[in-house]
Amino acid sequence: MMLSSDARRQINKALVPEAVFEDGYAGELRASFHASSGILNIYPCDVPIAEEGLLRGCCDFPDRNLEDGTDYDFRIVLDEECKRSVLFRGEKYEVQPYDLVQNVFSRNGGLIESEIMADKAVAIFGCGSVGSLIALALARVGVGNFLLVDNDVLEYHNICRHQCGIHEVGEYKVDAVKARILDINPTAHVEVCATLAEYAPKALWDRWVGEKRALCVGCADNREADVYVNGLCLYYSSPFVSIGFWERAFAGEIFYWLPDSQMTCYKCALGDGSLTSRNSARRRLYTTQEKLKDVHFEPGIAVDIDFVTNIGAKVAIDILNIGNDRFTQRLLPELQQYTLVCNTNNPAIGGKMAEIFSYPLQVTTSLKVTPLPGCDCCKEDGRHE
Ligand SMILES: [Zn+2]
Repeated sequence: MMLSSDARRQINKALVPEAVFEDGYAGELRASFHASSGILNIYPCDVPIAEEGLLRGCCDFPDRNLEDGTDYDFRIVLDEECKRSVLFRGEKYEVQPYDLVQNVFSRNGGLIESEIMADKAVAIFGCGSVGSLIALALARVGVGNFLLVDNDVLEYHNICRHQCGIHEVGEYKVDAVKARILDINPTAHVEVCATLAEYAPKALWDRWVGEKRALCVGCADNREADVYVNGLCLYYSSPFVSIGFWERAFAGEIFYWLPDSQMTCYKCALGDGSLTSRNSARRRLYTTQEKLKDVHFEPGIAVDIDFVTNIGAKVAIDILNIGNDRFTQRLLPELQQYTLVCNTNNPAIGGKMAEIFSYPLQVTTSLKVTPLPGCDCCKEDGRHE
């Protein structure tokens, strides 16, 4: 029987993490109360939410006496017979336990293995429109370790294509994105670095790229930054993906590099403009660090940026699952190291360059990148011996 929405409102229900009932659980909890549905949503304290409207609660075990005078908004009560109830605003709430991780990731079942992803590490360089979407896409497949690198603060003009919102304006992008990751997966380990990658301490790279072998994702939208990050990956033998855009995001490009793979490094492929000189159709019109001061922003709407970024996220997920024979690779076997993705081939948006694409939403699968003669990075793989 379906309950009418009015009837549903009569049910007082508390969603309680199963872990709370385990022996030795300690610590405060947080909750949001949704008066319209009568649901009290209780979750671990490390899920960051706006302080406003925050409810604080605790577990009231029979063998543990809470300090007198501690003023909690709600209490999870376990009585002598281990019956569970939640006391909130003088009323008893029916407990509905949930397993945080299993419930959150249940719909990935059979496609992505949460336990395997929980051990994976990703370092995201640039937490703007591209980096924030990559971060949340990877959090949603259960990636358990994130390093976020960006020196920018979120501004109002970022909102129309960033994953974060108005109440986060004024916050460092790395902190705002960290909060959103933890809001999806509270068990994730997220470290932030609010500087340009070039100024970060080497110990950070030793730990994340060296020890954890983090997949490094270049989302800063300039070639010099991507050359730097691919350089880190070459040094530590860690995989690399870069996502960037052409003007007005009429098209985007995805580049990846894997260690021990005889692949062409980013610098040879794109970093020093060699593609530009060899084939002007393959240049990327995004800015270099130098020009960044003059070109304050590159217009582009979220649906176009997100379309390309989602393809980059699929590549990242494939790379994280290399060697996992229970995972079906989606793109990696078909895509080259360098992929162009066309949002529109209409010259009214993309200019004359847009005409290189045969149709909108075209994704290339045959463009080749090759090492430049004398490149030390590519040489180490023995291709110029
Ligand atoms: Zn090279």
